[in-house]
Amino acid sequence: MSSVLVINSGSSSFKYQLIDADSEQRLASGLVERIGEATGHATHDTDAGHWERSLEIPDHTAGFAVMLDAFREHGPSLDEHPPVAVGHRVVHGGARFFEPTLVTPLVLINIEDLSDLAPLHNPANAQGIKAAQKTFPDLPDVAVFDTAFHQTMPPDAYTYALDASLAERYRIRRYGFHGTSHKFVSEAAAQFLQRPLADLKQIVLHLGNGASVCAIDGGLSVDTSMGFTPLEGLVMGTRTGDIDPAVLLYLQRKTRIGVDDLDDLVNKQSGVLGLSGHKDMRDLSRAAEAGEPAARLALGVYLRRIKRYLGAYLAELGGVDVITFTAGVGENSVPVRAGALAGLERLGIEVDPDRNAAPNHGPRVISTDASPVTVLVVPTNEELEIARQTLQVVG
Ligand code: ADP
Repeated sequence: MSSVLVINSGSSSFKYQLIDADSEQRLASGLVERIGEATGHATHDTDAGHWERSLEIPDHTAGFAVMLDAFREHGPSLDEHPPVAVGHRVVHGGARFFEPTLVTPLVLINIEDLSDLAPLHNPANAQGIKAAQKTFPDLPDVAVFDTAFHQTMPPDAYTYALDASLAERYRIRRYGFHGTSHKFVSEAAAQFLQRPLADLKQIVLHLGNGASVCAIDGGLSVDTSMGFTPLEGLVMGTRTGDIDPAVLLYLQRKTRIGVDDLDDLVNKQSGVLGLSGHKDMRDLSRAAEAGEPAARLALGVYLRRIKRYLGAYLAELGGVDVITFTAGVGENSVPVRAGALAGLERLGIEVDPDRNAAPNHGPRVISTDASPVTVLVVPTNEELEIARQTLQVVG
């Protein structure tokens, strides 16, 4: 009955899941938030119920104590489901980490050293690791990196056409993100189709608040739309995605906007939110259906960008066997899936409208039987993938 504890730590919060090592069932999940504020908040969920409490949580280690209390009071008992390791989501692994890695003091230094490249995420991820080390001194910690899956990209996919020595000095290249999800979903797609992963050319569309596309050949990432940061690529809830960098220079010259404000503008106030005032795809789709011009334009820009990447990756892969939608929007939005693939019949991509609209939550085919390219919806499960990779490392 052993288990893996999965931790996804932010700067003032962390999410956790306890996952059974054999059945891969989620035994419990929770969120500890507002760490460091006057009143913190914790939730804990199991099959038996949902619990919440509010109390002061001064730091992450105190947050871990709150989590342990929740397990003690509401179950499941950690004595009956002893964790064999703690698996940590770490956003940036740079060019150094290409696989899940046992956390040693040197690995932790390297994770913190990568904070330059992910200032919002890596320090917070390191805080989670340190709290786990204090709380479970006898358990191994494993870091699972969002960037690792994309380390198989060839140099011509990850290199920016920038002064080479400058790029090298500042570690500027494309890294890609959402790797844990792209790996999980592409493997689940092959399994669902009962076809060898090694034989498949796949495109995975991870469409959530953040969104990215990945081209996967024989199970290896060969290109992905996010780059040096998660800003590049698709139009997202609040991020621009691809934009001519000269626009930012122009804005700086014209309005004297500061770097931090510019960062905020392109990451938090743009995307479909900036275009329409709606950040959630449900609201945006409703507004577009009701004929709101700004919402229709935002949806059009969002869908065209997806198509542009599909075309690019079809060409890069030299054809594709499977296209898979995942994450909040990809798993749930019938109009986005239909719109993203509309008019691609001559490229062998034919969505069946009834299959696309059928209410269903598991992995499923939404293309017609005659479609040369199989189109799937596959729910992502990053926590399960982290648990699996953690178990691989600790044996
Ligand atoms: P994150 O990137 O934060 O992990 P998710 O993958 O959970 O996000 O995706 C969240 C987004 O999914 C929401 O902002 C919303 O736009 C979208 N979403 C969730 N449910 C639906 C739905 N039924 N129809 C359309 N979009 C949905």
